Amino acid sequence: MISVTRPRILVVGAGFAGVGCVRRLERRLSPDEAEITLVTPSSFQLYLPLLPQVASGVLTPQSIALSLRRSRRYRTRIIPGGAIGVDLAAKVCVVRTITDRIVNEPYDYIVLAPGSVTRTFDIPGLVDHGFGMKTLAEAAYLRDHVISQLDLADACQDPAERAARLQFVVVGGGYAGTETAACLQILTHNAVKRYPRLDPRLIKWHLIDIAPKLMPELGDKLGRDAQEILRRRGIEISLGVSIAKAGPEEVTFTDGRVVPTHTLIWTAGVVASPLIGTLGAETVRGRLAVNAEMRLPGHDGVFALGDAAAVPDVAKDEEGAVCPPTAQHAMRQGKVAADNVIASMRGQSLQPYEHKDLGLVVDLGGFDGVAKPLGVELKGLPAVVVARGYHWSALRTNVAKARVMTNWLLNAVAGDDFVRTGFQARRPAKLKDFEFTNAYLTPEQLKKQVTAQGGGGTADGPA
Ligand SMILES: Cc1cc2nc3c(=O)[nH]c(=O)nc-3n(C[C@H](O)[C@H](O)[C@H](O)COP(=O)(O)OP(=O)(O)OC[C@H]3O[C@@H](n4cnc5c(N)ncnc54)[C@H](O)[C@@H]3O)c2cc1C
Repeated sequence: MISVTRPRILVVGAGFAGVGCVRRLERRLSPDEAEITLVTPSSFQLYLPLLPQVASGVLTPQSIALSLRRSRRYRTRIIPGGAIGVDLAAKVCVVRTITDRIVNEPYDYIVLAPGSVTRTFDIPGLVDHGFGMKTLAEAAYLRDHVISQLDLADACQDPAERAARLQFVVVGGGYAGTETAACLQILTHNAVKRYPRLDPRLIKWHLIDIAPKLMPELGDKLGRDAQEILRRRGIEISLGVSIAKAGPEEVTFTDGRVVPTHTLIWTAGVVASPLIGTLGAETVRGRLAVNAEMRLPGHDGVFALGDAAAVPDVAKDEEGAVCPPTAQHAMRQGKVAADNVIASMRGQSLQPYEHKDLGLVVDLGGFDGVAKPLGVELKGLPAVVVARGYHWSALRTNVAKARVMTNWLLNAVAGDDFVRTGFQARRPAKLKDFEFTNAYLTPEQLKKQVTAQGGGGTADGPA
């Protein structure tokens, strides 16, 4: 018989951090020790590092969407929805379900792992015309969009419009932006062979970043190697440059250049989920300020990790260093956070999170890549093998491994058919539509919702 007074552990977010935590809790706690609940808008964990390969068509979207219900051993109760506010004093998390019902979910322990959203700036037109690369829907949308530009350019009679449709701008020279530009450039390079009326020389990719270097984490030499690879492929790299404004048919760079284009891909960094802002707690550059045990000081039973939290990087000999927002840290933090939740429940001591960075792998598509695993600098095929081998082994389930490997082999042998699925045609495609950044409650709305319904209530429609 299961006790009704089991402590309630609520995990928010089913990404690297949240799923790592939930699986560990399931393994280490018996069912009558605690009730585990997971709040997540999707029924899968997304393997984000392979997202550029979905956009470029090397992988199908399903292959990097890892089911949360793969095994009967997964006993966690899953609420399909997003947390839109957390009242730390009342210990209530407010959830908007996928049918827009508002549910108050009380907890004894909460693990906040909602990840991050695309970071934007107050640049005219950016949020209306920029595409992100943070969700599966964005990657699938972007693929369709890029292919549709080739289709439209092929059909149109106006040379200026054709040229504009064949120019693409990617902002952000970190690994996400660089991989996105590199993989999509390969897509257009290969696809244009199927459009005999289009002059391949009209296709132009721009990769720009306000920083003076691409992927500074790689060090000077590998960073230069990456630039060299991309330049050889015809990608125009502009450093020390951002965009001044964006419109539906052109983008203006801060150096004054006006680029006619219908495609602005914005990958200039991430910022913690807006959920963190509803807590009214201290943050470090938007990420929740937690201690090395991933606990929120002053609030018993509140843990945060992954991209959403500024977890001190104790492996670095540097005052105030926090772990970078990477999957490498998030998945490991998930396990330690689970152990710390369990230790708190049992009155045991908590352990700090410590992990020495293993380095970076960057797959630039085809046989191109750069990587710095454990400080060893690699480029070309060895880097691609290491990058793919690392990602492949990090996929959590064997079925996902099989899907990804099959996709890679099939793509290597048969290539791509460059079809537009049209699934998302005519849907609103702004950053906020994909990343739901305007779904969160204000402090007043949160108070009202928690006071009105207390713990465990539901309501229909917006709070
Ligand atoms: C294109 C790209 C390439 C990358 N490549 C690499 C790489 O090569 N190596 C590497 O280490 N890192 C890489 N990263 C970074 C890495 O993916 C992130 O650091 C990692 O996903 C963070 O894990 P997380 O669990 O904190 O967040 P996520 O994995 O983003 O998971 C957050 C989860 O929370 C859910 N969620 C969001 N809001 C809410 C809410 N309000 N309520 C409930 N659930 C919510 C989301 O749907 C998601 O499922 C890459 C990122 C991108 C975008």
